[in-house]
Amino acid sequence: MTFKVYREHWACIGHRIPGHKGKCKNLHGHNYKFTFEIEGPEVDENGILVDFGDIKDTLCKWIDDNWDHKTILWKEDGLLMLLKQSESPLMYGVVQVDFCPTAEKIAEYLIRTVAPTIFNEYKGRFLMKCTVQETEKCSASYEV
Ligand SMILES: [Zn+2]
Repeated sequence: MTFKVYREHWACIGHRIPGHKGKCKNLHGHNYKFTFEIEGPEVDENGILVDFGDIKDTLCKWIDDNWDHKTILWKEDGLLMLLKQSESPLMYGVVQVDFCPTAEKIAEYLIRTVAPTIFNEYKGRFLMKCTVQETEKCSASYEV
């Protein structure tokens, strides 16, 4: 028996996929939709697995503070290297990440790197699945 709680969140984020054969190699952005799925065996005395507000105050806030209205670029991306070399003011709003920022890898990063430090402190409450939707037709998820 397992309870599951879902919360959705939206953010505008720029990215590109270096080496992609199609349009994704170009710098562009999405109105990303994130779906967080929390799972646990028991609810508290109020019948709550995890307060929706706790998800908002942790995972959603982290995205707003770190990625919303910014561009995330892989540390191996030549564009990032160029921007760094030129010390361009365009670096403002560019966030370097250690992974190629596909929807799949963004979901994995949120589960493996972000959630353990800011969310899983709620004992027995773990972010089990994260879905990252780039368009109405395209999404990817990572699940532990
Ligand atoms: Zn894209």
